[in-house]
Amino acid sequence: MIKAIRGMRDLLPPETSRWQWVEQVAREVFGLYGYREIRLPLLERTELFARSIGADTDIVGKEMYSFPDRKGDSLTLRPEATASVLRAVLEKGLDKGAGVKKLYTLGPMFRYERPQKGRYRQFYQINCEAFGVDAPELDAEVILLLLDILARLKLSETRLLINSLGCPECQVKFKAALGLFLISREGLCEDCQRRRETNPLRVLDCKSVHCKEILKDAPVIRDYLCPDCAAHFARVLALLKHFGVAYEEQPRLVRGLDYYSRTAFEVVATGLGAQDAVAGGGRYNGLSQELGGPILPAIGFAIGEDRLLEVLPRDLGQGNEFKVFLAALGEPARDKAFGLLQELRRCNVAAEMDLEGRSLKAQMTLADRFGALYTVILGDRELETGEAMVRRMAEGSQERVALQDLTTLLAARARE
Ligand SMILES: [Zn+2]
Ligand SMILES: [Zn+2]
Repeated sequence: MIKAIRGMRDLLPPETSRWQWVEQVAREVFGLYGYREIRLPLLERTELFARSIGADTDIVGKEMYSFPDRKGDSLTLRPEATASVLRAVLEKGLDKGAGVKKLYTLGPMFRYERPQKGRYRQFYQINCEAFGVDAPELDAEVILLLLDILARLKLSETRLLINSLGCPECQVKFKAALGLFLISREGLCEDCQRRRETNPLRVLDCKSVHCKEILKDAPVIRDYLCPDCAAHFARVLALLKHFGVAYEEQPRLVRGLDYYSRTAFEVVATGLGAQDAVAGGGRYNGLSQELGGPILPAIGFAIGEDRLLEVLPRDLGQGNEFKVFLAALGEPARDKAFGLLQELRRCNVAAEMDLEGRSLKAQMTLADRFGALYTVILGDRELETGEAMVRRMAEGSQERVALQDLTTLLAARARE
């Protein structure tokens, strides 16, 4: 038997109902905030990610699924969505015109990471990207949008962590100070020993416990913000406060990608003793120019759907759908039931029947497995009298309903 690739999983029913529900809620909220969907290829040129995410990040260095295509061009399965969205925006001129341009996209991403609980090599994200405006109001709005989605999903126990990474000028000063601090530190991991020369910011999100310990006394970027960046950050925080959003300033939050500037944030789910980041994002004002485009302020976030689904209650989004099972005995009753089946479905009632001529008892078992709210029982006698027996499965109560009224009655109850 051929099996699925390690770290890649199948999402099966009924779990897929929860996924559909999460995505539908996200789409609704995006609509309220004026966002529209963009759908992108999963494959891009490797260069796009190397230039945007940063050559010295874990993602580009170790985790990308890259391969030469038949012509020898290096392609990569997207490890994240922002670079692709921006590539499309620049290529198609979606950045033109006044005002903020708002896009969202849903779908799988790919990273060759060590598989573990809640982490997969094909994982799913809900991405939000807004372009064209540098105002701190947009930062606040994007964060409020994210929190709105999570609140509608009934994810109440969360922490919002926030930091400012400053503009390139702030970062030059901060990197110099951080580099100076790191140069004299012994015992950094191999990666960080290299990074302190090439890109000291990346040392800040090293996962090694030892490196984290060393960094406890490191300088923080907040002390290196220029007046403009400091004012921008203060305004974002003031707006969040105004809307009653509890946030925690996290001076060492840097995110695992090179392109962020100014506001960076994460939402961590705290329910069930967990401490999992379910979403993260920030500004990436410099990315457009990095990719050869014009100056284009931008901000966005990604929700990690796999993690999110782990922390959401199991029973949410399962739906107690209105379903009808038709149990028929004998050839004429089965013919009649087959017609009713289509009639019900055309009237928006989910309906099912046995197609293999099973016994009534076996059909009732099928009705249970189908999750039927009602089972309609049809036999020779019911055809003669023109009345079917309708059983309400939960209580086992039964009523007689005229065959010609059956569809109308059940369709009306389905709408209730
Ligand atoms: Zn600055
Ligand atoms: Zn390290």
